[in-house]
Amino acid sequence: MKQFSCGAVVPGCTATFEADDEHGILTQVAAHAREDHGMDAVPDEVVAQVRANISEAA
Ligand SMILES: [Zn+2]
Repeated sequence: MKQFSCGAVVPGCTATFEADDEHGILTQVAAHAREDHGMDAVPDEVVAQVRANISEAA
């Protein structure tokens, strides 16, 4: 299980995500970025930041 806290990339955002793998996290983050942060697409540099901050969940 992987987990990611949006606040690691967007200060102040409290959204957190869990998925079986990195792809699952990125899919959820893309939807969240669009709906809650008004980002139509997630730039490569943001994807890189997200990947760097994904951690193992118990
Ligand atoms: Zn967020």
